[in-house]
Amino acid sequence: MGRPMQVARYWRHFKEKYRMVGTKCKECGEIYFPPRQVCPKCGSREMEDVQLSGKGKVLSWTIVRNPPSGFEYFKPYPLALIELEEGPIVLAQLTDVDENQIDFGMEVEMVTRKIREFEEDGLILYGYKFRPPIKP
Ligand code: ZN
Repeated sequence: MGRPMQVARYWRHFKEKYRMVGTKCKECGEIYFPPRQVCPKCGSREMEDVQLSGKGKVLSWTIVRNPPSGFEYFKPYPLALIELEEGPIVLAQLTDVDENQIDFGMEVEMVTRKIREFEEDGLILYGYKFRPPIKP
């Protein structure tokens, strides 16, 4: 019973996770990620999808040395509060970065990475992480 529902929920959220689509309030212009049905600021239900750039900067971070079950593969990993260009603040893992390089205000961009793998059926969850922009 539980499994099909989990998968359905996963696919419904796939678009917002993979492409980083947020919602914008048509009344006050506030942008939210993850998407909201109702604007917490003005109470409007007039929300529209908005494609976010996936670019942002690090507000603060911590190094997670004892990850929760299922994340052992990544330990230890940096977890950061990132302010997106469009305004929303997200909590996400940093990747492709040495922990000594991380700094306040460091520019980062979203990448899609494997987050978690369920051993029993091979279901792999992808989600967003952030890394410093690749220098041209
Ligand atoms: Zn609003």
